[in-house]
Amino acid sequence: MSSDLLSFGEAQALVAAQAARLKPLGTERVALAAANGRVLAQTLRADRDQPPCSRSTRDGYACRAAEANAHKALTIAGSTGAGHSPSSPLPAESAWEIMTGAPVPAGADAVMMFEHVEASSGRVRLVPPRTIAPGENIVARGAQARIGDELLAPGSAIGFTQIALAASCGCPHLQVFLKPRVAILNTGDEIVPVESEPGPAQIRNSSGPMLAALVRDAGGEPWLLPTAPDNTPALEAALKQACEADLILISGGVSAGKFDLVEPVMASLGARFHFTGVRIQPGKPLVFGEVPSTDLNQDEDRTKCFGLPGNPVSSAVAFLLFAAPILRALAGYTHRGPRFALARLAEDVKGKAGLTRFLPATCNFAAPPGEFPAVRRVKGLGSGDLVAMAHSNCFLVLPEDAERLHAGETVRILLP
Ligand code: AMP
Ligand code: MG
Repeated sequence: MSSDLLSFGEAQALVAAQAARLKPLGTERVALAAANGRVLAQTLRADRDQPPCSRSTRDGYACRAAEANAHKALTIAGSTGAGHSPSSPLPAESAWEIMTGAPVPAGADAVMMFEHVEASSGRVRLVPPRTIAPGENIVARGAQARIGDELLAPGSAIGFTQIALAASCGCPHLQVFLKPRVAILNTGDEIVPVESEPGPAQIRNSSGPMLAALVRDAGGEPWLLPTAPDNTPALEAALKQACEADLILISGGVSAGKFDLVEPVMASLGARFHFTGVRIQPGKPLVFGEVPSTDLNQDEDRTKCFGLPGNPVSSAVAFLLFAAPILRALAGYTHRGPRFALARLAEDVKGKAGLTRFLPATCNFAAPPGEFPAVRRVKGLGSGDLVAMAHSNCFLVLPEDAERLHAGETVRILLP
């Protein structure tokens, strides 16, 4: 194995260090409903205490716990529903009918659930032997957040939970980071567009649409360029055009074949290279460098550029491991990935000396409590096997030093 190539860990550290130096491109204001999947560019602060009043989490009777625990009948002094304020504090030896979400009357320190009391002729009693603790079934004013508290920092991923929080803070709009424009340049004389009928030696461009989907998932806006043929002038012209983008992904043409021209063409445009191979399988010939930028709006005068191996499985793995963290940094995310999880190997698997392997696999995430989910390989024919990859939901990680992993061992999986 060529020992001059970086190990997976070394390449990952290099990419993480590069990602840490990148700045997001700018911000825009979007309606809350359009913020799902975007990256927060502002601090989200509580505009009031959360909850804004001490409120009941149950339908029942507000009371003083000490009085309720004496199991004497308490007079029902009033009734409050959600959205209304109690008309008075809670009198002594009394209970107050209350609905979920309603403010608790002053003086009450617990709420007895309807199911736990017996009520008759205007009085209510906690049924023995049940007792109630002070604070039970009440969330105190400001217990979740105080007015002015920072609830979300810039760089947070916005999903349905963050949208709910922003809505609760009275934000009909959010400031989000701009999406980086990512050029996708597929290469290869054999590659034809999805819409066309391929000749016997041609294949449809599957990496292009796949990378576009991956780019969207990582917070970018894909810009699919026409496929470049395997000749230097055409590739050079295409790459020059791609240099207007915020990030460039080239697929194909990075191996050792006679028509693998990406690296020399990048070099001829003045590229600096971070690495031209990593000890991983698939994806070993992966190239990471920077080409002079032609986008005058960019602060950086260089655009990061990945040369991904052409096989779709290799492209996907190399993207998830190395290109996604760079893209997520440009998109403003604090968490850049890649995301790994632990799983239990369901069968023996052979490693490969000197290479960290990433094998399409299925993980059964519905594991019983206390157990790691079981993961098994999707049997396939290597890194060109789209059928196998389409039936996977993760990649099983085999460390570089592992000759053989055994069923039952704890392993890492790479999540898409
Ligand atoms: P390369 O990295 O150019 O040597 O390509 C490796 C393998 O991936 C070859 O079998 C190519 O035909 C295939 N390949 C390259 N580009 C694509 C693409 N855009 N879609 C599907 N397969 C591709
Ligand atoms: Mg090729």
